[in-house]
Amino acid sequence: MSEGFDCLKLKVGARSVDADIERVRAVREAVGDRIALRVDANGAWDRETARRALDGLAAFDLAYAEQPLPADDLEGLATLRETGRGSRVPIAVDESVGARGLDAVLDADAADVAVLKPMALGGPDQALAAALRVRSTGVDPVVTTTIDAVVARTAAVHVAAAVPDVSPCGLATGSLLDEDLSPDPCPVADGRILVPSGPGLAGGAFDELRRS
Ligand SMILES: [Mg+2]
Repeated sequence: MSEGFDCLKLKVGARSVDADIERVRAVREAVGDRIALRVDANGAWDRETARRALDGLAAFDLAYAEQPLPADDLEGLATLRETGRGSRVPIAVDESVGARGLDAVLDADAADVAVLKPMALGGPDQALAAALRVRSTGVDPVVTTTIDAVVARTAAVHVAAAVPDVSPCGLATGSLLDEDLSPDPCPVADGRILVPSGPGLAGGAFDELRRS
């Protein structure tokens, strides 16, 4: 918040549903209505638990719940999207993309949002193609890192910047590392990443790294 972010993601699923609901409630009360909140269960819930959790979390105006069910359960994810309408929480997939592939996710109507990780999808070109493809089917793409070092993180920034009107992405992960390969050419300032404008990866910011 003090760093200017207007979208936060909380991990859920490691505690009881009631404890998660209370945690999300506490965060919502602390940050107010203008901060977007997302939760990520990393596939921790079964169908019944996910339904109960989402019904309890619906009061907190979540932008989405990511991977509320195991990666393989596309049918269950589609059902979560179908039920609870009126106060339903949009569903995002992350692990499902890797486990089942984008085609299966889209064919199953399993997601409102697809979390796309360039380093897991085969690189920035493939990730951008995937982002534009999911967008064309009405699914919102969100680009995130895989907690990469600076080179791959910067590639993810480029992918996100190439998606028109992209939703908030999970790119501010450099601070999670103790060390990095070189200075960050696109650091976060006031909750935003200033996208480099030079040609190549951040205008050749890593040329030194290549020579060393
Ligand atoms: Mg995730």
